[in-house]
Amino acid sequence: MHIDGACHCGLISFTALIDPSRVMVCHCTDCQVLSGSPFRAVVAAPIGGFAVRGAPKAYIKVAQSGNRRAQVFCPECGTPLYATAPENATSVVIRLGCVAQRAQLGPAVQIWQHSALPWLPEMQSVPSSPEQQKFLPPQG
Ligand SMILES: [Zn+2]
Ligand SMILES: [Zn+2]
Repeated sequence: MHIDGACHCGLISFTALIDPSRVMVCHCTDCQVLSGSPFRAVVAAPIGGFAVRGAPKAYIKVAQSGNRRAQVFCPECGTPLYATAPENATSVVIRLGCVAQRAQLGPAVQIWQHSALPWLPEMQSVPSSPEQQKFLPPQG
């Protein structure tokens, strides 16, 4: 499946060829912090089918194992875009939030469940509104 995406300000955009059955949610604490969200949804793409336009910036995350991952983001608006190996990358792991087709790309698997936020299963019963409610602060 061909997908495309862009950061919030539009400076960086990309296209990729993905397998829609490989969408994944990660509940690890690094993903919570780096995404600014309760969890991160991603989809992997081989580097051969991936093209990026613009000049994104990368933050190199070093894992306890010593493994280094480039966390690629827009230098202007800060949107997280994808992660990849800092050298000789064979694939990219695209952040689903900046993918145009994200509504069609439900996850097939969740990982790092032991650090998943405990209130996630209760989301269905949280009162909800189709748009912003007057009593809530403006949405970021
Ligand atoms: Zn941007
Ligand atoms: Zn993670």
